[in-house]
Amino acid sequence: MKEEKVRTYCARMDHGGCGLVVTVKGGRVVKIEGDPRSPISLGYICPKGVAHRERLYHPDRLTHPLLRVGKRGEGRWKRIGWDEALGVLSERMLEARARSGPQSVLFAQGAPKGLEFFLLLRLANVFGSPNVVGPQNVCHMPREIAANLTVGFWPEVDYEHPPRCIVLWGSNLDHTNEEGTIRSRLRRALKRGSRLIVVDPRPTPAARRAEVWLRLRPGTDAALALGMMRVILEEGLEDRNFVQEWTVGSERLKMRLESYPLSRVEEITWVPQDEIRRAARIYAGERPSAIQWGNALEHNLNSHQNCRAVLVLMALTGNLEVPGGNFRATPPPCMPLREMVLPQRIEDRPRKMLSAHWGLHPMLATVPPPAAVETLRSGSPHPVEVLYIQGSNPLITYPHSQVVKEALQQVPFLAVAELMMTPTALLADLVLPAATNFEYDDIGHYGLPHGFLVARPKIVDPPGEAWPDIRILNELAKILGFRASFWEDEREILDAVLEPAGMDYEAFKKRGVLRGPREFLRYGKEGFRTPSGKVEIYSSRLEARGLDPLPNYRDPLEPWGGLCKEFPLILTSAKDPVFFHSAGRRLPMLRKVSASPRVELAPELARSLSLGEGEWVWIVTPTGRIRQRVHLSPGMDPRVVSASYGWWFPERGEASLFGWNESNLNLLTDFGRGVDPLVGSTNLRCLPCRLESIP
Ligand code: SF4
Repeated sequence: MKEEKVRTYCARMDHGGCGLVVTVKGGRVVKIEGDPRSPISLGYICPKGVAHRERLYHPDRLTHPLLRVGKRGEGRWKRIGWDEALGVLSERMLEARARSGPQSVLFAQGAPKGLEFFLLLRLANVFGSPNVVGPQNVCHMPREIAANLTVGFWPEVDYEHPPRCIVLWGSNLDHTNEEGTIRSRLRRALKRGSRLIVVDPRPTPAARRAEVWLRLRPGTDAALALGMMRVILEEGLEDRNFVQEWTVGSERLKMRLESYPLSRVEEITWVPQDEIRRAARIYAGERPSAIQWGNALEHNLNSHQNCRAVLVLMALTGNLEVPGGNFRATPPPCMPLREMVLPQRIEDRPRKMLSAHWGLHPMLATVPPPAAVETLRSGSPHPVEVLYIQGSNPLITYPHSQVVKEALQQVPFLAVAELMMTPTALLADLVLPAATNFEYDDIGHYGLPHGFLVARPKIVDPPGEAWPDIRILNELAKILGFRASFWEDEREILDAVLEPAGMDYEAFKKRGVLRGPREFLRYGKEGFRTPSGKVEIYSSRLEARGLDPLPNYRDPLEPWGGLCKEFPLILTSAKDPVFFHSAGRRLPMLRKVSASPRVELAPELARSLSLGEGEWVWIVTPTGRIRQRVHLSPGMDPRVVSASYGWWFPERGEASLFGWNESNLNLLTDFGRGVDPLVGSTNLRCLPCRLESIP
């Protein structure tokens, strides 16, 4: 049988920026490799990318729509066809709208995979519901909103030139390979001589390789950045011309920094003063320098301040919009986001969203899970009658899982579109079988601020009657009566997105990647896109919202009253390198690498608690307890432990909801203690805890 090699881009294992060469034989994928010709990923592929094949042909793939016939969570289903499935779903949605208003239908998605997220937003807006629930409050949006307020754009790292110094701040690229693309370019820059500073509480591979590793106390990023600013300004290392001409508030910042002498910063962050000085001198002294920030900055109650503080560092050192610094990426021509998601269909949408009820920033296009979960539970500010979830497993991934379960059980009608059954899907009334990215034509990186689009052409047929999410949404929209606002089929959608680029999907497939032009120093012509046209170290817009207009630090443990005898350790967490959030636990190739969840701790802490490598141990916070296996990690601070996130056990079977409550990190988190007042992020990586051995 003849083999054929097809080029595509990865997806659904993270944002999916790695180019892949897929070998197909007899209509089946037989091999997946990194594509050395991809200008985005330079041939890189991670274990998740290789494991796509196992996922494609997994015997547990959902192949037909399923309607619940037993009790909720009992696992008894009736197989139905798509006409009936979409009929039931549309009927429930229209009934809810007639009875309780369009806002009583909630939509939800986890990480965006391709176009489906934007179609979901479009469907919600056309239906009249402003409420699409998503994790953007702890992924991307705190950085994006802080950046918008401070500099007016998302600061990408220009690896191409490359920076003389790179700071990885809360970004573990060796394991998460953020956006699927950055790691390869980082590695190439390091080979070309960039100096490396790493800010991370964990001894990650990059931390071990770094010239300076700032092992900060989890959640104290803003204080560390303020300490570095103090060194830079005291030692005259700032870019004086840039600060004078292009920033607002530098004098007030100096006053703020008086409250952050390095002795205090060391006390807060646990980073020795000399190390803070060293890092500040390298970062500010080498020009250009760039900061690669990660979403760890967004995982506590101070997230918008953490992000603002890091942005101000970029500005003080004049590293914005310069080659080799943090620059503004320009998207390639394609359908403008507003035209795709149609927010204008709901008058005054931001004020109608559940997040507005929580006083959060209107730039958040999605509702943070805590706001949605509270509404589901309490029926306030309005009842919820239908929840439609695609590509998300909230029972494991939303904070405070006990409360999430209550909320999911309470919603009158729950529909879930998924590849395979999950703990969340088991609670549904209707389960729809979704196709993977290899099984339909899609466009990747649309709507993300990275300046490129990638083609993900269909390679094989989906199993049974599985449908792409974009088809489910397009067909559902037609049944709901929105034919005029949707398309005849998926190909029309793809062509419409690409029309401004002057090509159709067939032509795009051949190109594989579409990139926007790379421009620098645009502020010289246009200014910064802020009210003053300058970098707003002092943010007038935050002041108008009654929030601190200058970067500042707040102890994320404040709502817990700090550490105490009962909970003397700080719990942080990390994604498992071979899994994407809660996905992939069914794939043997990945479970072989990571069989069970691990809690990392310093050998001296393990000794003091008489714990050994591989032993199961209870991790206990004021909210709950879970068990994970001890992993000794030399270099960890003995006052900190780091648990794995996203764990459930398909092998435990449906009766236990796949062991959802054994090792799931979110049984330890608690949004009830408060959220960031601007962006609604919760404390995910800084909780008081203790470890208990299991007899
Ligand atoms: S790093 Fe991400 S995009 Fe690249 S192969 Fe792995 S999962 Fe896919």
